[in-house]
Amino acid sequence: MSESSIDTDVLVIGGGPAGSSAGYWLAKHGCSVTIVEKKHFPREKTCGDGLTPRAVKQLDDMGLGVRLSAFHRYEGLRATAHGKELELQWPTHPIYPRHGYVVRRRELDEMVARNAQAAGATLLEGHEASAPIHEEGQLVGATVLNKDADESITIRAKHVVVADGANSRFGRSLGTARRKEWPYGTAIRTYWQSPRHAEPWIESALDVKDREGNSMPGYGWIFPVGDGTINVGVGLLSTFKKFKDVNTTILLDSYAHMIADSWGIDPGSPECKATAGKIPMGGSVGPKIGNGFVVVGDAAGSVNPFNGEGIDYAYETSRIAAGLIAEAVATGDARVLDRYPAMLDAEYGQYFKVARLFAKVIGRPALMRELSRVGIHSRTLMEWVLRIMANLLRPDEIGPAEAAYKAAAAIVRLAPNA
Ligand SMILES: Cc1cc2nc3c(=O)[nH]c(=O)nc-3n(C[C@H](O)[C@H](O)[C@H](O)COP(=O)(O)OP(=O)(O)OC[C@H]3O[C@@H](n4cnc5c(N)ncnc54)[C@H](O)[C@@H]3O)c2cc1C
Repeated sequence: MSESSIDTDVLVIGGGPAGSSAGYWLAKHGCSVTIVEKKHFPREKTCGDGLTPRAVKQLDDMGLGVRLSAFHRYEGLRATAHGKELELQWPTHPIYPRHGYVVRRRELDEMVARNAQAAGATLLEGHEASAPIHEEGQLVGATVLNKDADESITIRAKHVVVADGANSRFGRSLGTARRKEWPYGTAIRTYWQSPRHAEPWIESALDVKDREGNSMPGYGWIFPVGDGTINVGVGLLSTFKKFKDVNTTILLDSYAHMIADSWGIDPGSPECKATAGKIPMGGSVGPKIGNGFVVVGDAAGSVNPFNGEGIDYAYETSRIAAGLIAEAVATGDARVLDRYPAMLDAEYGQYFKVARLFAKVIGRPALMRELSRVGIHSRTLMEWVLRIMANLLRPDEIGPAEAAYKAAAAIVRLAPNA
């Protein structure tokens, strides 16, 4: 095996949403940055492919607004439960747009990674970070395997961004861990051809039933991709009773049968085999920083527990981290990074705490059934639920959603760290 070395201001491990946006913002700040991604683009990533207004804003800010508009745009959420449905448009907001997109990850992630490259980041595809390099207790880089050339590269950096996703093996080698008592999610998805592939609503089912009509734990989604297919998936939280006994393949099959007629799909003929993934959420993975490194995106457990979306939080956490790293590089003072955990806490701490409590509540089937029954009959209630769940509360006004959220937040503040 041949050997070589690279020196860079910042090494980013992983070229998904978190790593590529970190690369983009660091390059824009004038840092030299090298992103290592173990796969080659375009690459698949198991996902619902749903971009909420928060994600759209981040992509816009990275200069990708026009390119994004070539994909399937949607206007809001259709919630279904107990034989009823409600179409809820995204709320107006001073910062976020009033629409989302559905973009297959093989296309989205390549677009964002190439955008980071165009901004000046070096992107090494087919390169896997295999081991950290420490000097006097400080992380100073990583040994990286060029899988195509059987080459080992020593990459030395002033700072390392850990953006290696939900399993975060590199993060674990640095001592990160998930808080076991906090909830996490699991989800499975595949694609079907559907005549309704270009609908302007994403759909979410609050009650998934088996073929005998019995309620099953978890929720279902249908995200129209606009390319002849729909992304169909089911998810559930670790707070659900008998979580570990639930076979998600069977759950998805039940859901596919439930929606087969209305969406014109053949449940037995998906486009590809369904794949599943684990979803660390609510900021459950830490520490967020260490000597020489910063953790972002799924590697930091940044997914929203209310709805399982993590692409936007991957972009956002990376952008926050990139700003601090750029300051540390410019000033030569690494202590700047000590502010990162507090900044995350200010931005998401209270919200994630409420969301974790919510995850506990809906893990109880009877409560979930009752909540969805009440909710589906009230447009006003569901409109504010959508705003809370998508983290689109307006800071500048106290509407019913903000009031309810504040009340819940006040209760949570008194509760133990759920
Ligand atoms: C079934 C499912 C459905 C979901 N649906 C949605 C949704 O609709 N909307 C939404 O917003 N979120 C959704 N999520 C969550 C979303 O997928 C993640 O939050 C998001 O991908 C996080 O981005 P990331 O960059 O942190 O991690 P990832 O997207 O996992 O990217 C990590 C990257 O790092 C690379 N990598 C890993 N280890 C190394 C290494 N050692 N060296 C080099 N490269 C490495 C990987 O190949 C990968 O490309 C879903 C998740 C699942 C499982």
